[in-house]
Amino acid sequence: MPEARGSNALATIIERLKSEHPNARYELDWETPLQLLVATILAAQCTDERVNAVTKTLFPRYPDARAFANADTAQLEEDIRPTGFYRNKAKAIQGACRVLVDRFGGEVPPRMEDMLTLPGVARKTANVVLTNAFGLPSGIVVDTHVARVSRRLGLTDQEDPERIEADLMRLIPKDEWVAFGPAMVLLGRYTCTAKAPQCGQCAFEDLCEKRGVTEAETSSTPRRPAATRGAGRQSQLAFGADAGEEQDAAFRHADLAPLPPVQGGDHSAGYEDLPQSWLDVLADEFEKPYFRQLQAFVAEERRNHQVFPPEPDVFNSLRFTPFDQTRVLLLGQDPYHDDGQAHGLCFSVRPGVKSPPSLVNIFKELHTDLGCRVPNHGCLTTWAERGVLLLNAVLTVRAHEPNSHKDKGWETFTDAIVRALNDRPKPVVFVLWGNYAQKKGRHIDSSRHPVIAGAHPSPLSAKKFLGSRPFSAVNEALERLGEPPIDWQLPNL
Ligand code: SF4
Repeated sequence: MPEARGSNALATIIERLKSEHPNARYELDWETPLQLLVATILAAQCTDERVNAVTKTLFPRYPDARAFANADTAQLEEDIRPTGFYRNKAKAIQGACRVLVDRFGGEVPPRMEDMLTLPGVARKTANVVLTNAFGLPSGIVVDTHVARVSRRLGLTDQEDPERIEADLMRLIPKDEWVAFGPAMVLLGRYTCTAKAPQCGQCAFEDLCEKRGVTEAETSSTPRRPAATRGAGRQSQLAFGADAGEEQDAAFRHADLAPLPPVQGGDHSAGYEDLPQSWLDVLADEFEKPYFRQLQAFVAEERRNHQVFPPEPDVFNSLRFTPFDQTRVLLLGQDPYHDDGQAHGLCFSVRPGVKSPPSLVNIFKELHTDLGCRVPNHGCLTTWAERGVLLLNAVLTVRAHEPNSHKDKGWETFTDAIVRALNDRPKPVVFVLWGNYAQKKGRHIDSSRHPVIAGAHPSPLSAKKFLGSRPFSAVNEALERLGEPPIDWQLPNL
């Protein structure tokens, strides 16, 4: 714990936090403590805006705890379905409300000890309700942002949310607790972001120990797509899913987020911060047994081996290209298995990493086909941001062992992605290079979606790939659909 933080530095941190983020508050709509409890449960992995749209009709339909407790579960699930993970959330709401009815006369108890007896309610949810609905300084709300920023500032060394909260409660005066958490969330969301913290623009730079922040993090990590990044400092904050912010591992399953249980220790899934459009179409998939087993398998692999891409990057293809903004699907097979290459987009490598042979051939063909200049890097995030979903069939691999995570469940998951795009009314241009991709894409309805099939860019089939002009074929297909073409030129970094 942070003996290193002197009381003067701490007082300055608190004062600056207040002046940087005055009146920070949550955006959930509620009128009673019960409504705040239910809205907070629904806000896990969902935007507050969407929760508010759901609770507008939900709260009149279920006016008290008894109504939730006695509700038909299938109907309740249907009523909250737009918030995602609806089965687990319905279970959490009904479980909590049954205890409220049985033990607390149907009222939310204004004491932390009692709140913690409600199924699915841990300290974070309890703190939100107690501090906001009752004005009680019960503790400090610690979410992924508060935890990360607290560690970087040197306020805690802990990883576990409850231990972090205990450190903060020892350091921060009690009358500051209610405002401290929300202000730290805003600092974490807009400045001290998980990837690429903006230390140069941070009001705390002269005080901050920047623990765990590396030069690489501040300079070379690709930023999230603009459409999913925070726009600037705000006084209101969403309690639910951030649009495009990283979630630290310890928090993905930590408190109010009733995510699918996975056996085997730390099982951070990393999909919780995906664009809402993907969460909507894949919500059922995340709850299926095969997906839970797959997550347990990958978690076990990470404990015993090096696995690529790094955990936060596994779902980058979906993160960079939301479902509703996907215009082209380029289907790959397996992530790169050498050090530092894979970052969750097929064929793409991190900036500064030498382009592998397939990517070299892609750039060659792009130059021949459309005259595009070969960029000074192999990072394809710009294509992803322009609507090209760069999806591998298998999303993880053990280091230096190609295809080592084949047939573990990823193919089922990525089939669901292909199916969702195939079922979408708005057409998608499918690009299938090589036999593997063409086999995987065999169910695509080519009467509705243009399919560009051709040789794989690997050196083994380069003779056929070079000269196949797939990029102009994609753009011609888009034009036939009345869509603007993709700008395939990658800017230099
Ligand atoms: S100086 Fe950098 S690491 Fe420290 S709080 Fe600010 S953004 Fe975060």
